[in-house]
Parts: sequence; structure tokens; C-alpha cells
Amino acid sequence: MQENTTSATVYLVGAGPGDPGLITVRARELLETADILVYDYLASEPVMAYANPGAERIFVGKKGFAKHLTQAEINNLLVKTAQEHPGKRIVRLKGGDPYVFGRGGEEALALKAAGIGFEVVPGVTAGIAAPAYAGIPVTHRTCSSSVTLVTGHEMAGKPESAIDWDALGKLNGTLCLYMGIHDLPHISEQLIFHGKPASTPVALVRWGTTPQQETLTGTLETIASLAEEANFQAPAMIVVGEVVSLRDKLDWFESCPLFGRTVVVTRSRAQASSTTSQLRALGAQVFEYPSIAIAPRVLDEGQLAIFHNLSRYDWIVLTSANGVECFMADIEKAGLDSRALAGVKIASIGPATARALKAHGLTPDLIPPRFIAESIASSLIEQGVGAGSRILLARAAAARNALHHLLENAGASVDVMPLYDTVMPSLGEATEELVDKLRAGAIDAVTFTSSSTARNFVASLDQSVGAEERDNLLENVKLASIGPVTSETLRAAGLEIAAEADPYTIPGLIACLTKLFA
Ligand code: SAH
Repeated sequence: MQENTTSATVYLVGAGPGDPGLITVRARELLETADILVYDYLASEPVMAYANPGAERIFVGKKGFAKHLTQAEINNLLVKTAQEHPGKRIVRLKGGDPYVFGRGGEEALALKAAGIGFEVVPGVTAGIAAPAYAGIPVTHRTCSSSVTLVTGHEMAGKPESAIDWDALGKLNGTLCLYMGIHDLPHISEQLIFHGKPASTPVALVRWGTTPQQETLTGTLETIASLAEEANFQAPAMIVVGEVVSLRDKLDWFESCPLFGRTVVVTRSRAQASSTTSQLRALGAQVFEYPSIAIAPRVLDEGQLAIFHNLSRYDWIVLTSANGVECFMADIEKAGLDSRALAGVKIASIGPATARALKAHGLTPDLIPPRFIAESIASSLIEQGVGAGSRILLARAAAARNALHHLLENAGASVDVMPLYDTVMPSLGEATEELVDKLRAGAIDAVTFTSSSTARNFVASLDQSVGAEERDNLLENVKLASIGPVTSETLRAAGLEIAAEADPYTIPGLIACLTKLFA
């Protein structure tokens, strides 16, 4: 590292092949702290999501794109940006590995020549990763003892072929050709001409490691016409060799239960990420549409005073992980800590709320068998709650009154502490994008984790396109709900539920979605 205050450092960072999970720890660290980000089209959207939102972003495009810069222009831009921003972190993000057909070497030489410090962060290259995600190990003891990374794109204006077809034709191992889709007929011809059997298996892997991955297999003899027939487009790897036949047994990614499906997650931004990563792990493409945001209430003196006297309650009932966070923050605001809860029993509506409690060192005394208000009420009553019991319901301001009523009917005295409001964030551009995707039939499912996400989702579509058009747009989209209460909210808006979780948890929701698409 050569960072100092007088000149900027340029980091040539590999973004990996597309799956955001395949970025290195160092790359992520640099993205999160970048001041200026220079990137092109192979740096995928989910990877860019790691980037410091405050960083200045410079798109340098690629050939064929309107805003394309030449390599010399990119080199100059990097040098100039570094010179003009002393002390700044400039991240030059490149698809895959910066030094594997990424022209990272040319950029490093330009920086070196201008006396600018740089660091290289290698990345997982598409030539290895795309085949792996297509079920193809690039080497295999019984059939391939070498792997050769080759550019399938010859440098324009060179009199002779830059590619030694003769040598490649003689190799017995695996060939991974980058940038070769346009020249596929020529490539397969050359390889056959130079001694490779026409029956050698070939795979084309497009947008490898992403939810849009597509794989086409054939032989050197057939692949060019198969690709033409299928209108197979770049960016794709060409993988040539016996290892390709292992795909029949080793494909794992394209057979993931949600592979190829696009799922909308409507949870709040803060809570979406774990749901999103679970869905991605099942192969889904996720569109985050945070239709609720949590706005903690500012409690007045009187309300804060309650925390000094919590031991007067027999039970405190918490009905969401958000509630736990607000409740614990309010205890602190009252000048107390978790000892304020000494001697009080705690009921948690379900496992996620229990996990949030555990994170604060609190183990709930009760989790009902079903994770809804009715079930928590009957469990409490079974535990002896009745006449004379004192209960504190610490929950969202706008919540159903079912629990309150059931406990009062059993004779308990119930206080409610409204901790937070769920509000509708302004979703302007995200709604436009969602509507575009729905119009294009590009959304397979929408997940709802609470009545408020359901209500706000419907409201924001209605504001944008009207109720009638909303129904049309959602006609072929599967709506999956976390439980009966959320389902009811959707039905009340005239929508049909395709799947309901059981148990009423996020894993339950993901499981029912998976079953739906099985
Ligand atoms: N530096 C990059 C390669 C850049 S060259 C790397 O190390 O991966 C661009 C070529 O890489 C594309 O034409 C295509 O052949 C290949 N490529 C990049 N990302 C890919 C992906 N996700 N799936 C398949 N091929 C990909």
C-alpha cells in the first residue's frame, strides 16, 4: 500500500465474475471506503451495492456502449483523477480479475509512468468461475491436467494471428476462451484444423455465476450452429475439453430451486439483507423494494418512567425484532440497562424476535407454537395469565388489537407501549423500476413479511399505476405471505395468495416459495 496525503492511490480491484459473494474481502473493504469509483459494465449491480454510497462514480463503459472510452482515455482519466485528488482512494473496479484480459496491466503501467501509487486486488476470473457454476471443473485428474486461458478476440490490425492455434490444437487439457462468442465459427474451425477431435465437448456459459446464467453445450463440430440457432450472446466463456461432460453430473447452480426466478423482497432496507442472501443462495435474483421503514417513536418522560418500574409487570410481550431494538434503545434512553428487566418474564412472538432478544443477552420465557397474536395469547393464558396479571405489550404503534383484547378478556390488565411507527418510505424511482419489470413479465414472485409491507406495497403501486393496472400487473406474479394475517391484508386488497408460510417465519416463507417453484 502506498497511500499518503500528497498523492492518491489507485486500487485496481477485481470484482469477480458477477455473484456478489465471489468478491474478495479486500475488494469489499476498498469498495466500502472508496472516494472515487471507476467502473465498467462487467462490474455487476449487486457488487456495486457494496460501494460507499457517497463515492463519486465514473462509468467508463465498454466497446459498443454509447459512452465508451478508449483504453488510452481510461488510462489518462485514472492518472488525471489521481493527480487532482490527493489523498483520495480511487477504486478502479474491473470484472473478474484485473490482470486476466482486463487490461489492468496497461492501467498499472500508465499509473507507474505518472508516478502514482497503486495496488492490485486479484479477483475470481470468469474463466474459472463460470465453468464451476455450470458444473464444469476446469481440471480433473482423469481427463484434464492443464487449463489454458485464451482470448478469443484477436487484436485488430495485427497481421498474423495473435493466437497460436497450432499449440492450442495439440493441448490435451481444458481451453477457456474469453471474448470469443462472435468468432465462435472461426475458433472451432481452427481448433479442429489444428488437431482437436471434432467430437470434443464444448460449453458456452453466459453471464456465469449470476441468476441470468445460461449454458449451451455441444461439440467443436456442432457448437457454432447451436449458438447461432439459440442466438447465444456475449458475454460468455467458451470452455473446450472433456471436462465439459462432467456437467451432466456436477451441475448444481442452474438446478437450484429458485434459479432463474426473480423475487421481490418488500422488507425494510435494514432487514432485507438476510432474506435477500437466503434467496440468492437458492439461485434467485432479488429485487429489493423496501415498502416499509421503521421510525422509532420518541417517548415522553412519562413513558420513559415506566422503564424504572418494569418489575410491576408479570410479562412483557415483544412482537417483532424491530420492537426489541426500539425497546432496548428506550431502556438506555431512560438511563437504564437490561437489569431493568430483572424478575419480569418475557414472551417473544417467534424465533426472529427471540434472536433479537438473545443478541441483548435475554432469553425469552415463552415462544408460542404458532407465531401470531392469538397463539401468544393462549400460551400466556396456559401459563396462568388471568385476573390480576399485569402485562406490558411493547410493540408497533399501529398493531392489531387482538392480543390486547384476548388478554383483557382473560382478566389481565394490559398496558401498551407504542415503540415505533412503520412508515412508507418514498420509493419513486424504485417503483418505476418495479413497474417496468412487472410490465416486462420479469418478476416471478413477491414476498410479504407483514401486513404493513403488504399494505404499502399495494398503496405504492396504486399511486403509481392505479388499482386496475396493479391487478393486471400482478396477475401472473406469485404472492407469498408470511402468515394468515398478512394473507388477509392482501386478500382484502383483492389479491390472490399463491403460498403462505408455515411456520410463520422467514425460513417458512422461503420454504413455501421454493415449493411453489419446484
Ligand atoms: N477480467 C475478466 C475478463 C474480461 S474480458 C475476468 O477475469 O473474468 C471479458 C470477457 O470475459 C467476456 O467477453 C466473457 O468472455 C468473459 N466474462 C466475463 N464475465 C463473465 C461471466 N460472468 N460469464 C461468462 N463470461 C464472462
